[in-house]
Amino acid sequence: MPAHPAAHLATLAVHAGNAVDAGSGAIRRPLVMANSYALPDDPSELSWSGTGTPLYTRNGGANQGWLEEKLAALEGGTAAVALASGMAAQHAVFFATLRTGDHVVSSDTTYVGTYRLLSELLPQKYGISATLVDSADLDAVRAAIRPETRLVHVETPANPTTRITDVEGVAEIAHSGGALLSVDATFATPVLQRPLALGADVVVHSHTKYINGHGDAMGGAVIGGGPAGTALVEDIRREAMVNVGGVISPFNAWLITRGSVTLPMRMRAHCAGAMAVAEFLEQHPQVAYVAYPGLPSHPQHALAARTLHAGFGGMLAFAVRGDAATQNRFVAALRLITSAVSLGHDESLIVHVSGDDERARFYPEEFRRYGHLRLSVGLEDPRDLIADLDRALTETLEP
Ligand SMILES: *Cc1c(COP(=O)(O)O)cnc(C)c1O
Repeated sequence: MPAHPAAHLATLAVHAGNAVDAGSGAIRRPLVMANSYALPDDPSELSWSGTGTPLYTRNGGANQGWLEEKLAALEGGTAAVALASGMAAQHAVFFATLRTGDHVVSSDTTYVGTYRLLSELLPQKYGISATLVDSADLDAVRAAIRPETRLVHVETPANPTTRITDVEGVAEIAHSGGALLSVDATFATPVLQRPLALGADVVVHSHTKYINGHGDAMGGAVIGGGPAGTALVEDIRREAMVNVGGVISPFNAWLITRGSVTLPMRMRAHCAGAMAVAEFLEQHPQVAYVAYPGLPSHPQHALAARTLHAGFGGMLAFAVRGDAATQNRFVAALRLITSAVSLGHDESLIVHVSGDDERARFYPEEFRRYGHLRLSVGLEDPRDLIADLDRALTETLEP
């Protein structure tokens, strides 16, 4: 990756990966919708599984490469690989690091796809074992490390509980146990935390969420730092991208590159909106609990304040006092906030997950008792969001 003259995130978000297009003179990188690239006059030396020479879009496309340049700059990494989705990126980390007999230590609270891979698919199909621990408890992480542990994986803030993990502390434990550390930083984005600077070897992102930010493209990435992280990204490119095929489409890479220009300013607005909404909900008598790292009531508020820069994120979880039907009635009464999965979009999104979800055993007691409403606070004026929540709470009271 070429060194960029700008050091600050907002400037990198605008300029990194962009340059004058040599063909047209346009000051924007073009959208290159091509599957194939011109071969050299003598292709006999070319590896058909290689990634160094433009060849075939599954071996690396032009828009993918420009997006990777930008991601590496935003995360302060030395290498990045952009893939078709966050799960393609997460799977690629596991695929490239783990063999039969290897062991992973992971946060017990993660995105559901990550949980499914570690708890079911990798153990059952490939004989890879995983210990799921409360990664906020450094002693629990240390105790879970085995001689065959190759990877420690944490998600912070965690989906959906917003639990915070001390990346620096876990990095020390992973490395002293001879394991690599990967961090799913989808909720934090490089605006709030840069895990590579805290000792992580690779960072995983779902671009579908904040980095694109507009709810209209799917993608993911793995960004590496240091010798081990850089080598792992190149293994992923060669093994998981070219041969497994989870390559990002040029159009999605182009959309994500464009969406990410405003990431730093969008994150500031998401954080401010989420804080206002969390404070409103917490004081409301009909609200059973609110989980948001910015509230002093959050169990890791002090750690969050110390380790997240520029704000506490746009994600929170809460529940209305009452049963599952009450939560559904409340969601149905919302008019501005949309009931849908995904997060980090411009519009606010809410999803109700009941307390008997298979992963609820890892969640705090109040999540099990009431279920939870995961709220992704969008870019609307927080006063309108609060008015929508307030009115829906009142309507939920009525029979
Ligand atoms: C959504 C999400 C993923 C998966 O990303 P996709 O782009 O949906 O495949 C992984 N981790 C976290 C924290 C997520 O929120």
